[in-house]
Amino acid sequence: MGAKPLPILTQNLPVRFQAPAAVRIISSPVSHDWPALQRRLSAVLPRRAVVAARQELLAYDCDGLTLHRHQPPLVVLPETTEQVAAVLRICHQQGVPFVARGSGTGLSGGAVAETEALVVATSRMRRVLQVDLPNRRVVVQPGVINSWVTRAVAGDGFYFAPDPSSQVACSIGGNVAENSGGVHCLKYGVTSNHVLGLEVVLPDGTVTQLGGELDESPELDLRGAFIGSEGTLGIATAITLRLLRAPQSVAVLLADFTSMEAAGEAVRLVTAAGVLPAGMEMMDRLTIEAVNDYLAGDGVSEPEYPPDAAAVLLIELDGQEREVLAAAELTERLCRQAGARQVRQAWEAAERARLWKGRKSAISALGRRFPSYYLQDGVVPRSALPRVLAAIDQLSQRHGLPVANVFHAGDGNLHPLILYRDGEAGVRERVQELGGEILRLCVEAGGSISGEHGIGSDKRCYLDWMYSPDDLATMQLLRRALDPLARANPGKIFPTPRSCAESARRVQVLRAAGVSLPEEAVVF
Ligand SMILES: Cc1cc2nc3c(=O)[nH]c(=O)nc-3n(C[C@H](O)[C@H](O)[C@H](O)COP(=O)(O)OP(=O)(O)OC[C@H]3O[C@@H](n4cnc5c(N)ncnc54)[C@H](O)[C@@H]3O)c2cc1C
Repeated sequence: MGAKPLPILTQNLPVRFQAPAAVRIISSPVSHDWPALQRRLSAVLPRRAVVAARQELLAYDCDGLTLHRHQPPLVVLPETTEQVAAVLRICHQQGVPFVARGSGTGLSGGAVAETEALVVATSRMRRVLQVDLPNRRVVVQPGVINSWVTRAVAGDGFYFAPDPSSQVACSIGGNVAENSGGVHCLKYGVTSNHVLGLEVVLPDGTVTQLGGELDESPELDLRGAFIGSEGTLGIATAITLRLLRAPQSVAVLLADFTSMEAAGEAVRLVTAAGVLPAGMEMMDRLTIEAVNDYLAGDGVSEPEYPPDAAAVLLIELDGQEREVLAAAELTERLCRQAGARQVRQAWEAAERARLWKGRKSAISALGRRFPSYYLQDGVVPRSALPRVLAAIDQLSQRHGLPVANVFHAGDGNLHPLILYRDGEAGVRERVQELGGEILRLCVEAGGSISGEHGIGSDKRCYLDWMYSPDDLATMQLLRRALDPLARANPGKIFPTPRSCAESARRVQVLRAAGVSLPEEAVVF
C-alpha cells in the first residue's frame, strides 16, 4: 500500500536558523576489510572483546524496534575509555563508520548498523566510578543500568530522577544519547536536566570533556548539544549525574474513568489548578485488560485496575507531608469533577509499587497478547489530548489495526502502541503508514514527532515536517564540526534523499514553488 502524499508543512514554518555555510555530506556504502579490522581491534582490546561469529552477532541486529533488522559485520566490547579511544582511532584511520550501542532497548532503530559499520557496545562498561553524596553527584560508565544508580544511593536517602519505563534494562549512555524521559520527568525534567558533565570520545579518537562537575559553567553548552544527539557526535564514556534527595512523603492516586476524554479533562483540570504531580500517566481499556491479565499470571488475585474502566490515570504526588496531603485532596476532587468513578489513594510504599508495577509492565503485558507491536512517540499540547486521542482511535479503525494507549499524559507525550501479527501480508507497510499518520496528527496539533525515543532511522523521514532545510543544514554544521565525514551512527536522525524519497520530493516541490533553498541544505 503506497503512502499518501504529505502536505508541504515546511512551507508554513518559520526558518529558525539560516545555514551560514555549505553542508554536503554524502554517505555512500563503502566495503571494508572486516577480517583485517578484526585483527587490528583484537590487538588493542581484551580477550573475547571482538564479536565476529554470526550466531553471536544476531543479538545486535535490532533494538526495541523489531520492524527493521540489520546484522552488523563486527561488534566490540571495550571496558575502558582508553579502549574506546583506541577503537575509534583505528576506525578514523581506516574510514570505518561506527554505531554506539548501550542495552539496545531504544525504540527508533538508533543502535542498529543499517549500513556496514562497527558496533561499539558498552555492556562491559558497567562500573559506578565515584559517589559524591556531599555534592549530590555520581560518576558512572555509560553501560551502567539506569535503575542501578538509584540502587547505589537509595540507602543514603538519594535517587536519580529520570526513570524510563525500561529503567531495569536501559543504560545511562543510551539515556544520554536519547535524552530519555520517564514517569518523573513531568516534575523533574528529562535526562539533560540531570547530567552535569560528560567524558566523550570523538569520532577521531580524541578524548574530551563536555560540561563538568558544577551546576553551571560559563562555556558554550556542548554538553547540552551532545545529550540527545543519538550517537552522532561520538561515544560518552563517563557521565556525571545529579542526584536528588528522596522526598519526605509520596502518594499515588488511581482514578478510573468511563471515557478517555474524561481522563484527558482530568489532566487538564489538575495542571490548570497549579498542581505539579511527579508523574501523571494514562492507560486505556486495551492496556488495562492486558495488564490485569499479566498481573494475574504473576499471582495477583484481584484485578489491580478496574476491569470495566475506559481509562485510568495514575498520579504521583511528592514533597513535604502537608503539601502532599493538600495536593492529594485537591487532585481527587478535580478527578471526580472530570467524571472519575473512583479515586484510590495509595500511601504505603508496597501499595504504590503495586500500582506502578502495572504501568511499568504495560508494554510487556500487551506484547504477551499481541506478538508484534510498533510503539510510537509523539507529543501534543496537553489541551489537545482528548481531540488527538479520538482521532487516533478513528485512524486505528480505518487501518484495521488495534492501537493501545499508555503514556505520559502530564507531558502530552503519547505512546500509541500499534498491535499487529507479523507474517500477515503487507502488515508492516500498513503499520508504518498508520504510525506516520499518527505523528502527522501530532505535528498538526502543534506538537512534535518525538518526546523521548529519539528519531533514529525510524522517524528521520518526518524530521522535515518540523524543520526547514536551513534548520537541518545548521544542525549538520554542528555535527560536521565534530565528525566531518559523518562516520558516527551514519544515516541516523537526518532525512537523506536515498532513505526518504518523500523528503526529496518535498524539496523539489518547494523549489518549483519558488522557495529559495541552498543546494547544500538538501543533500546529507
Ligand atoms: C519497554 C520499553 C519502555 C520504554 N520506556 C521508555 C520511557 O519511559 N522513556 C524513554 O525515554 N524511553 C523509553 N524506552 C526507550 C529506551 O529504553 C530509551 O531510549 C533508552 O534510553 C535507550 O537506552 P539503551 O541503553 O537501550 O540504548 P540503545 O538502544 O543501545 O541506544 C540508543 C541510542 O543511543 C546511542 N548510544 C548508546 N550508548 C551511547 C553512548 N555511550 N554514547 C553515545 N551514544 C550512545 C545509540 O547509538 C543509539 O542511537 C523504552 C523502551 C522499551 C523497550
